[in-house]
Amino acid sequence: MTDVAKETMIDEVLKDVIASVRSNIGTKKLSGTAAKYLQQPQQLSLQDDCLFFGSRIVIPTTLRNRILKQLHEGHPGVARMKVLARQYVFWTNINADIESFVKKCRNCQEAQKAPIKTELFSWPKEDRPWNRVHIDYAGPFLGKNYLVIVDAYSKWPEVIEMKSTTSTATIKQLTQLFAQFGNPETLVSDNGTQFTSQEFADFCKANGINHIRSPPYHPQSNGQAERFVDTVKRALLKDKDDANSSETLQKFLMVYRRTPCPSSPNSRSPAENFLGRPLRSTLSMLNPPRSILKNRDEKMEQQFNRHHNARPKQFEPEDLVWVRDYRLGQTKWISGQVLLRLGNALYDVLVNDNIVRRHANQLRRRETDDTPTTPWDDFDWPQPSSPSPSQSSSSSSPPPPSQKLPPSDNDVPATLRRSERHHQPPKRLNMDPSLKSYV
Ligand SMILES: [Zn+2]
Repeated sequence: MTDVAKETMIDEVLKDVIASVRSNIGTKKLSGTAAKYLQQPQQLSLQDDCLFFGSRIVIPTTLRNRILKQLHEGHPGVARMKVLARQYVFWTNINADIESFVKKCRNCQEAQKAPIKTELFSWPKEDRPWNRVHIDYAGPFLGKNYLVIVDAYSKWPEVIEMKSTTSTATIKQLTQLFAQFGNPETLVSDNGTQFTSQEFADFCKANGINHIRSPPYHPQSNGQAERFVDTVKRALLKDKDDANSSETLQKFLMVYRRTPCPSSPNSRSPAENFLGRPLRSTLSMLNPPRSILKNRDEKMEQQFNRHHNARPKQFEPEDLVWVRDYRLGQTKWISGQVLLRLGNALYDVLVNDNIVRRHANQLRRRETDDTPTTPWDDFDWPQPSSPSPSQSSSSSSPPPPSQKLPPSDNDVPATLRRSERHHQPPKRLNMDPSLKSYV
């Protein structure tokens, strides 16, 4: 966090963005990358000199490579890196940077995934963790064998390095595992000799486990474990230069367990669906401590409100605006033009030759043209929880005033006299084809 803060303050782009956030956004005209951050101002907040986009910390340029390395720990591949990034960090173009980072990783490219075998047999959808568990052996691989266990519901994986692959050795490991998580109702395996033995059958029976073996010549029916075996293989292969394969394996497992998984319910991480909580990791250190986070939520809220109200509510003389009109027991918007800014939030606005005083909250920017906002990579930008002010003013612009009415009596009395209080009916732009001009 302190590194991020330090680097943020000297980051060419971010320091401008922060200055703009501090000065209430919008007053300062930013261009290029800095302007992109401000397209969703309600997402931006500050905490201890760090910029946040939603709950994601914005990483300054100098630290991005370090973060990419961290996200790439265990070589999770592009998709999972993006998912991880979305939980913690943000910068413009982060997706493109992730993609090119993975392309440059030689190990990742060498271990490119083989096309996925189609799973011919599909298991009923599991509705609770550790009810049906798939097991399989991987290896020998780089001289080692691995017992792979995958929970069908959460996809929580266990991978155990095995010196021996006999029934006895397998049972010993499973006993340990089931002591931690309980006996599953169903255990699915292939027809490996360690699983077909009487010893193994006895073990399952004694523990009330229904052991299902995939039909011969139909190994895909244990697809869950098989696919994962493939994933494990690739993970180990990617770090094959690393002498300590056990460390590699644990790193990989940690990343896998904490990363949101599309085949785990609600696309949560296996850990969340299995343990009921996310795993804390080095990336979690980028999140402010919980106490600060709580604080920050309030701050963010204030900031959001400030942006929400203040940002589009700063007007300059001659700005075109929609003005709240309170007569007739209804609220409607009529068009006007800002004459004068009287204070932070008070304006005199010209409406049909009359000057009315309005609070900024009673004004909305009126666009002359509907310039669409620059399209953004939806993937990068989390949808704002509520529409941004700029969006709402362009997408749901009020109906054009059919009637232009003089200001009502419940207007804030203007210090400036209303121009010519003769109660002339306001000039209306009546479309009269018989007239040559409307002057
Ligand atoms: Zn890699």
